[in-house]
Amino acid sequence: MDEAKSNSILVVDDDILCIMILKEILRPEYTFYAARNGRNAIKIAEKKLPDVILLDISMPEIDGYAVFAALKDSEKTRDIPVIFISGHSDAENEEKALFFGASDYIKKPFNSEIVKLRVQNQIKVKKQKFLLLEKKLAEMSSRIKIEFLSRMNNEMLTHMNTIMGMTHMLKMSDSSDDTKEYLEEIDVASRHLLRLINDLLDVSGKRDNAFIIANSVFNFNNMFREILKKIGRDVTQKRQTLNFDIDPSIPMFLYGDEKRFSKVIANLLTNASKFTPENGEIHFSAYVLSKDSETITLQIEITDNGIGIPKEKQNDIFNVFELVDGSVTSEYGGVGLGLSISKHFVEMMGGKIWVDSELDKGSKFAFTCKLHKNPPSVTGNL
Ligand code: ADP
Repeated sequence: MDEAKSNSILVVDDDILCIMILKEILRPEYTFYAARNGRNAIKIAEKKLPDVILLDISMPEIDGYAVFAALKDSEKTRDIPVIFISGHSDAENEEKALFFGASDYIKKPFNSEIVKLRVQNQIKVKKQKFLLLEKKLAEMSSRIKIEFLSRMNNEMLTHMNTIMGMTHMLKMSDSSDDTKEYLEEIDVASRHLLRLINDLLDVSGKRDNAFIIANSVFNFNNMFREILKKIGRDVTQKRQTLNFDIDPSIPMFLYGDEKRFSKVIANLLTNASKFTPENGEIHFSAYVLSKDSETITLQIEITDNGIGIPKEKQNDIFNVFELVDGSVTSEYGGVGLGLSISKHFVEMMGGKIWVDSELDKGSKFAFTCKLHKNPPSVTGNL
């Protein structure tokens, strides 16, 4: 049985001898169709959608130019490359064929190697165009998805902020203990939802590769204080102890992407609290790993005595949507975005992140981050 031929050719020529010769040349490599007049050619082209059409110019009734015009008029056959063939080896015909928009031109009598090469070229060009189109379509669809996700998230953020703001106002007002308790529940749920929305925003940025480091001067201690404000409630609610140990040689002011840096720390601290039972212990430490005249590399470590992570899962958890165990996570909540975002942020900031953990004993998440001591100096004359 013949091996399946992935490409097909349609030869249109009123001269049966020419069709026979071209069949001999092309049939071993291509599925071969033939038509002896323009009308049939258009029908076969629309039905079989060949990869390349070899079209004779001089034919009775409808000539090659008219067939070509009809093929280009039809949406189905418009993109099929057409190679004109002619017995008239004059430059005028060649010029006219190319002027009409033919992809190439072959003269009779046929040189089998030239016929093969010209057909191969057209198939190559068509494939490249197809791949390019596929790539553009994929990029377009991913951009549309990302834009949609960002718009949705921004919309959700606006409403979340209103809900949280109003809950806060109600809590401050003279409400009964019962109401205060309900409001506290709303507050906790809102904060979880807000975190999720922010994670989704980060993931959509990450997919798009739109994440750009936004460096600025920041105060390390102030940054840490803000993080504590955010996660402090979770820790207090679970009556956990949070100790911290900050290397005094860390300069007060640093130059780097504060938002992403603090986001990684907040993610790790949130997880430490989430995956550690009530009354558990969390330890935060930050120290200088190395420094030179301009940069300083910090190592941050967050240790907990929580549920731990089995060895075989310790690499996977940095992948997007990866959870150690669905049932465990549904008990603690989470969708598996935080660590993948953290890894991405750390790597964008020139660092690495890893975990050491033992099941039922606890985990230590650590990452390094290269920051600058000062903003880059502006050189040159104004
Ligand atoms: P999420 O916390 O939203 O599930 P993450 O990407 O932050 O997503 O974490 C992925 C998974 O890694 C978690 O679902 C959990 O199974 C595991 N994990 C992360 N941090 C810890 C930790 N400190 N202790 C135990 N398991 C953890």
